[in-house]
Amino acid sequence: MDDPMWEGSGVTLAAPLDVDLTARPVGDGVFVRGRLRTTVRQACRRCLASVELEVDDVVDMLFDVLAEDEKEAEGEVYPLPARGDTLDLRDAVREQLLLLAPEFVLCTEECRGLCPTCGIDRNQDECNCVPVQAESPWDALKNVTFD
Ligand SMILES: [Zn+2]
Ligand SMILES: [Zn+2]
Repeated sequence: MDDPMWEGSGVTLAAPLDVDLTARPVGDGVFVRGRLRTTVRQACRRCLASVELEVDDVVDMLFDVLAEDEKEAEGEVYPLPARGDTLDLRDAVREQLLLLAPEFVLCTEECRGLCPTCGIDRNQDECNCVPVQAESPWDALKNVTFD
């Protein structure tokens, strides 16, 4: 859960990541299919409260020998190391989980968010801030009095 691989990813794990994968050879590559299960913790887009969401999905990853210039273009295809007999799945698993985690979350659909003026959580408290209005060139006239 607190593995450095999640640092800076924008996703925090609230439960251990359960990875259940099967690998089989395909052509010159390796096809990996399986299931990723965990709970991710993200901040509500409006009030920043932490929200926990279960992620449980099937992922497909193809590891193949890629020419250098193809590496950037391919999406679901990951480079297969030219040497060695181990396959490091960390980067691919990390990327797949980030794809599964929702980009924006709300604590509830009705979340009222934070007051843009005083920062109070409007789900829990009321404030007396006047909604900020854009200045208008006519504002000066409000103070003009006619005798
Ligand atoms: Zn919220
Ligand atoms: Zn306020």
